[in-house]
Amino acid sequence: MFIDGKWTTAEAGRVFASTNPATGEVIDEIPDGGSADTVRAIDAAENAFASWSQTTAYQRSELLYKVYDSMCANREELARTMTEEQGKPLRAARNEVQYGADFFLWYAEEVKRTYGRTIPAPRADQRFIMHYHPVGIVGAITPWNYPVSMITRKVAPAIAAGCTVVVKPAESTPLCAVETFKSFEQAGIPGGVVNLVTAKDPAPVGEVFLNDHRVRKLTFTGSTAVGKHLARGAAEQMKRTSFELGGHAPFIVCKDADPIIAAKGVVLVKFLNTGQACISPNRLYVHRSQVDAFLGEFASRVEKMKAGSGFDESVGIGPLVNEAAVEKVDRQVKDALEKGARLVTGGRRLTDNGLDKGHFYTPTILAGVTPQMRIYREETFGPVAPVIEYDDTDDLLAMANDTSYGLAAYVYTRELSTAMQLFEGLRFGIIGINDINPTAVAAPFGGMKESGLGREGGPEGILEYLDVKVGGFSLR
Ligand code: NAD
Repeated sequence: MFIDGKWTTAEAGRVFASTNPATGEVIDEIPDGGSADTVRAIDAAENAFASWSQTTAYQRSELLYKVYDSMCANREELARTMTEEQGKPLRAARNEVQYGADFFLWYAEEVKRTYGRTIPAPRADQRFIMHYHPVGIVGAITPWNYPVSMITRKVAPAIAAGCTVVVKPAESTPLCAVETFKSFEQAGIPGGVVNLVTAKDPAPVGEVFLNDHRVRKLTFTGSTAVGKHLARGAAEQMKRTSFELGGHAPFIVCKDADPIIAAKGVVLVKFLNTGQACISPNRLYVHRSQVDAFLGEFASRVEKMKAGSGFDESVGIGPLVNEAAVEKVDRQVKDALEKGARLVTGGRRLTDNGLDKGHFYTPTILAGVTPQMRIYREETFGPVAPVIEYDDTDDLLAMANDTSYGLAAYVYTRELSTAMQLFEGLRFGIIGINDINPTAVAAPFGGMKESGLGREGGPEGILEYLDVKVGGFSLR
């Protein structure tokens, strides 16, 4: 753990193992922190806040540039740790490290533009000004699927804003967090500004974040169930909160789309990170006239994908995070098949060629999926693409919006008016129009409905860590 600028063990002296999901082997042992360690980290963050919040935007910017440089210098080491501990192919891991580092570059620039306002006053002898102030100490809880960039997407804007942070990373990827913090240390971030508490059991750390009055902001990325639990707890002290939660993205192939281009697109986005992405398409609505051409191209590409260790350059599909994830995927596939779905390809665990030691599932396509099937509503977080055929008479928008989630949606069409109507009508926070990668550090990322609250990245991302203060001045 990293507290007050020093590497440290857990007060209780406990450790837990981090394992490789492709082989089941133990990689290393990590301090197993608890309540006392979290309080220690908050103490350090409190001490550091006094001076850090008084630095100028230019001083903080300079430091953020240094973090960007150190992350870029450590890119290979970070990526290798990620492939070993999280499983994604090395090329994808390198891309994630770059994306993670880019938040520091972007907020190094943006922090200099957190302008306040002067506001016209109703009285001639009155003046109004509005300033932004850092909210204070931030508790950040991050997931395993993007184990570096989900940390930096929170830490970069938080420290740019003048806040200090305590991070609790996912228990499946603590080493990725440790490597990320090594870059923070090398860049010379002052002690206590960023702190890391690793823990096998997240609940006690979360409880301290919720109950300690000094933590004024809670930022969380993970499942909707845990997000709701934390939101209820944060309400007790009216903490500022941001939540990036689950998703159930529709991917729409319109009657006028090019089915081959749409199939090429969906292969890239659906199987990214073995389907373990919150913006992964979970319902593919394909116009009946396009189904054959779309499925033909889609299946031929999927069947060429190779699963295995992310260190093998020819591998496009890594393991799932754990056994429970494999079981969830398999349960959804079996349920769909029992209720009449058609298996186009895949549909089984992968155990041959030594893969039985890891958590592998074949990339899978299901056709003829209906609303009665679990996969139509439950987030899959795995390599399964469920295809739903629709007709001109169906209300496409109503079907696509029929979910409690609202994170990402995708549309393939060649008609400008269709594109605009669907963009306006879809109740999702991020929409790709003929585009499978509608995310960038400069673009606000986040969801509607039960996919979360607040945005990360872009100018909106730093406002999550700033309080608004208004001054009314009388000239009399
Ligand atoms: P999870 O909610 O189980 O875990 C996420 C984090 O919360 C981990 O650090 C975990 O240790 C912690 N946590 C779990 N229980 C806790 C508790 N009681 N108190 C405090 N912390 C607790 O989710 P997961 O399985 O790790 O991640 C997958 C989920 O995350 C998916 O639903 C996915 O859609 C979502 N996700 C969303 C985004 C986004 O930006 N919207 C990004 C990545 C993942």
